[in-house]
Amino acid sequence: MTTISGARVFDGTDVLGTASVTVEDGVITAVRPGSEHDGDVDGRGMTLLPGLIDAHVHLRGAGNIGQDLRYGVTTVLDMFSAPPQFTAVLRGRAATRTDEADLRSSGLMAGAVDGWPAVIVPPDPSGWHMPGLSRPEDAEQFVVERAREGSDYIKVFVENPADVDRPVLSPETVTAVCTAARAHGLLTVAHAPTRWAFRAAVDAGVDVLTHLPLDGPLDDDLDLAALVVCPTLAMMRARADARSTDELLADPRLLAGLDREVADALRAGDRGHLPVSDRPGTSYDHAAENLARLAEGGATILVGTDANDVPGHAAAVLHGASMHLELDLLARAGMSPRQVLRAATSVPADVFGLADRGRIAPGQRADLLLVAGDPLTDVTATRDVRAVWRSGVRFSDAR
Ligand SMILES: [Zn+2]
Repeated sequence: MTTISGARVFDGTDVLGTASVTVEDGVITAVRPGSEHDGDVDGRGMTLLPGLIDAHVHLRGAGNIGQDLRYGVTTVLDMFSAPPQFTAVLRGRAATRTDEADLRSSGLMAGAVDGWPAVIVPPDPSGWHMPGLSRPEDAEQFVVERAREGSDYIKVFVENPADVDRPVLSPETVTAVCTAARAHGLLTVAHAPTRWAFRAAVDAGVDVLTHLPLDGPLDDDLDLAALVVCPTLAMMRARADARSTDELLADPRLLAGLDREVADALRAGDRGHLPVSDRPGTSYDHAAENLARLAEGGATILVGTDANDVPGHAAAVLHGASMHLELDLLARAGMSPRQVLRAATSVPADVFGLADRGRIAPGQRADLLLVAGDPLTDVTATRDVRAVWRSGVRFSDAR
């Protein structure tokens, strides 16, 4: 049994004030108001939050989810990794270990034959190759195969054929993927980084949209309150601005959980292989303004980074570190710190049916983050990580 006492508690929805939180066998068993420090962990001057949920990452190696946990991210939602055996291995690790973030995954993404993302996935030595869809009738089999592999939701690649030099899914095929997923009880998440793609994904009936248009404003006639969006502003910024990693480099708290060679490579200007978009009219301001409109219009917002670093290598958007940048970018684009912190805890838990986490309450899984200061006033306080618990086990960074 562990009691964390004296900390201000944000329970995933609101601030409870100062309270003591008791954890037993991986589960929160009591939350008692009071500012006394009479527990095992002195939280005075600090804020205790539910462990953060990054609602958009890509798994590139086992080290990713260890890095996530160092930064207080206790659950990640993978939005495409391959091949399926690799995803299954990481899923197995996450289910049994307490030194890595837990994960959910779409597994493979629905895309066209010879299109994205198939073109970036080399055939496996075993003969496995990335499946593609060429017509609406292919959707059912795609979804059945993902369900068999354990996919927790279905990711679908939506792009305007005029914007990419590869085959893309037709709007009818995207609609068929949504229909098939719904029939199997699975949510759909669409890659939708342009005005055209965002609109097409909404019209197809996708449940969650990810990314935000960099090429202009969202259509005026969208029912914003009905949308669930994971903006990935850190990635949208990296796509629009070659110097987007400067902010990571400027804050030692963001570098603290990275391997030394990764930090050195970032300093040397290495941002992985992410090109800056050369599309005319591309501007991060469009993404930020679209976020402000969505938040104002009552859309459901999820915090997600699109982190995709290969462990040990630099990238423009990194597991764990970029989550804290994302929180700040959302706040700077117009969300209140409370809205941002909800969008990183209870909201993604609700959207993705993770009923055991995202909140501090008796009976919830003890995934917890203790930070110095008050992120409800200044959201960058989340960077000051003092302790992380994953299923009630305190993480100790023994690198
Ligand atoms: Zn992504």
